[in-house]
Amino acid sequence: GTGIVVSPLIALMQDQVAALTQAGVRAAFLNSTLDAGQARAIETQLLRGELDLLYVAPERLMLERTLDLLARTKLALFAIDEAHCVSQWGHDFRPEYMGLNVLHERFPEVPRIALTATADEPTRREIVERLKLEDARVFISSFDRPNIRYRIGQSGNGPSARDRLLRFIRDEHANDAGIVYCLSRKRVDEIAAWLAAQGLTALPYHAGLGSEVRAANQSRFLNEEGVIIVATIAFGMGIDKPNVRFVAHLNLPKSVEAYYQETGRAGRDGLPADAWMLYGLQDVITLRQMLERSESDDAHKRVERHKLDAMLGLCELTGCRRQALLTYFSETLPKPCGNCDTCLEPPEAWDATVPAQKALSCAHRTGQRFGVNYLIDVLLGKDDDRIKRFGHDRLTTSGIGKELGQQEWRGVFRQLISRGLLAVDLEGHGGLRLTDLSRPVLRGEAPLMLRRDAKPEKAK
Ligand code: ZN
Repeated sequence: GTGIVVSPLIALMQDQVAALTQAGVRAAFLNSTLDAGQARAIETQLLRGELDLLYVAPERLMLERTLDLLARTKLALFAIDEAHCVSQWGHDFRPEYMGLNVLHERFPEVPRIALTATADEPTRREIVERLKLEDARVFISSFDRPNIRYRIGQSGNGPSARDRLLRFIRDEHANDAGIVYCLSRKRVDEIAAWLAAQGLTALPYHAGLGSEVRAANQSRFLNEEGVIIVATIAFGMGIDKPNVRFVAHLNLPKSVEAYYQETGRAGRDGLPADAWMLYGLQDVITLRQMLERSESDDAHKRVERHKLDAMLGLCELTGCRRQALLTYFSETLPKPCGNCDTCLEPPEAWDATVPAQKALSCAHRTGQRFGVNYLIDVLLGKDDDRIKRFGHDRLTTSGIGKELGQQEWRGVFRQLISRGLLAVDLEGHGGLRLTDLSRPVLRGEAPLMLRRDAKPEKAK
């Protein structure tokens, strides 16, 4: 019989069917790119038993017409690809996946298999529940990708992020294929154009580009050597190019799952590859604000906050990144990996209790409505009209922070926000307020160890 593969993306179906056909498998897809005649031809092949695999999008599968067609076909299997899309809590939720339990009801005798490359434990449970796979066996392979070297650095310190990206590519990945992820379309366009102006083959990819441009750029990335795709997260699901040598992030992903999935596109051939990321104070503030202002209900927000906390924790870690990543996916690595930035150059942890107390009480005494830059100016006792106008030059916290420089203070604030000791305002002005977590530190009940940021790199 025929295996039916449920797949969420048209581009993905086309790639896989092309590769399968080349390998001699009788594969086809049914989706909206086909005209009525083409679709009918494939349906005929299907009914005649001339197909080994048929790819269908979930919304097409749900149509009564398609279900009738399948009822008249000899079926061997339903394979639900990218099954984490069924998870409401996940980072790729697709409502149409929720309807897939109809397969169980309509075709109880046909075996079903669900597949995903990224799912933490709650997501795995959700896949089993929603797809009605209660009695199914679960196969979990290791999440460890030992050939990927994870590196996470701080931006906003020394040369700009794009300069450091360029240097990273030139020094370590000249003529290699890679993916650069940015948060916004605008930033994607800027970075792609700038890298191209520096002589690299860099192409943009985001949902704002026409489908033809996107398809052309993706095809060049897949088929040519040494092409760099600069993209939003719209790029990548199902991209199966084995020799992607680096994945760079110029922004902070919202969850460890998203980070793992995006970085996992590097080094699928098993050869050494890099996951390289830069993030800074502003990213932390932006993500915290986006979360607080999102329209989600409280339950969703709680889950999203938990996921973001885990991601920020991974960033600010002083121990092995790989151990932390694997722990997140409920897997243990007994020893530090020796192949991540924190293993190769262990960062220092320092007792930041007193500076943290100064920062927190400065936020408190200025009325919990000012942003990082203002608070640092007060701590440094900067001569500033605005500070004088508010009378904050006369506070006890004015000028008490001169033991640290401005960049070091930014590192302290970033980590206080990352760890939830300071919360960002909902209005988006960047005002910081204390939280329940800040009290024990303010009262001196709990010491606070922070990660010492690397010294700024010198410009070349
Ligand atoms: Zn490590």
